[in-house]
Amino acid sequence: MSREMKKARVIAVANQKGGVGKTTTVINLAHWFALHGRRVLVLDLDGQGHIAPGLRLPGGDHLYRFLVHEEEVSNVTVKARENLDIIPNDHTGELAKEHVKQANFREYILDTALEEARERYDLIFLDTPPGADVLHVLALVASDFLIVPANMDFYALNGVGQILKTVRNLKRYPGVTPPVLVGVLPTLFDKLTNETLNNLQSLQQSLGENYILPPIPRDTRLREASSHGQTIWEYAPACQGASGYPGNGEKQCNSSGKVGGYLHIAEIL
Ligand code: ADP
Ligand code: MG
Repeated sequence: MSREMKKARVIAVANQKGGVGKTTTVINLAHWFALHGRRVLVLDLDGQGHIAPGLRLPGGDHLYRFLVHEEEVSNVTVKARENLDIIPNDHTGELAKEHVKQANFREYILDTALEEARERYDLIFLDTPPGADVLHVLALVASDFLIVPANMDFYALNGVGQILKTVRNLKRYPGVTPPVLVGVLPTLFDKLTNETLNNLQSLQQSLGENYILPPIPRDTRLREASSHGQTIWEYAPACQGASGYPGNGEKQCNSSGKVGGYLHIAEIL
């Protein structure tokens, strides 16, 4: 099926650096769109399995069964909230990865597995593992859009460069349309440090302002929300940390006052 005819938009949230807010971003974006009437699915591709507990659910071998046993999507989804389903992961994610590595046409496995899900959902978020392993590549192949969370330190910025290079290289695979970059999402953002501001500026110069999403401030309530198994919309919707995520329409502008990329995703649905 051609990309244009697929119902759901598949959005990968990726940066090979860990601890930059990928999972936090997936949970809060997914729930925001679910609260606004979209049918949303989240796949946890990270064997650390943080998506399920982040929504106060147990983890499980659902991703393994989905990728290795090719079980139907309705068999491996768990209802997390109204309009929000997840495919949890756990330590068996490592076994799934080994299986995928050995498979023929491995780059396409996730893209193909998601065919049925694309008919059932409006948005599918892929939470990706740190590192640049095979599941990371599978996520990029399967996605239509890409969000790259990055705290503004050297290593995370390096991760931005790496992932954009990987995306460019996807053109080598026949039939693969690389995902469209929604933007780099500055996370754990602390505008009081020079390093943060300098790194943000150099990103703006190299990528162009339109590719920098409104920053997510560093806010312990985001951390607390996940340890309570709640999204920020349940735990502290008015907190600073929530202000960068959609839901605060008037704040959805980047530094030049242009509308941020999430609304773009909502518009094209
Ligand atoms: P990743 O998925 O990239 O490894 P996480 O989303 O798990 O990153 O975030 C790493 C840690 O930082 C988690 O404890 C999370 O709660 C916390 N965190 C994420 N974003 C913020 C933020 N904006 N402010 C404060 N803590 C955050
Ligand atoms: Mg994570």
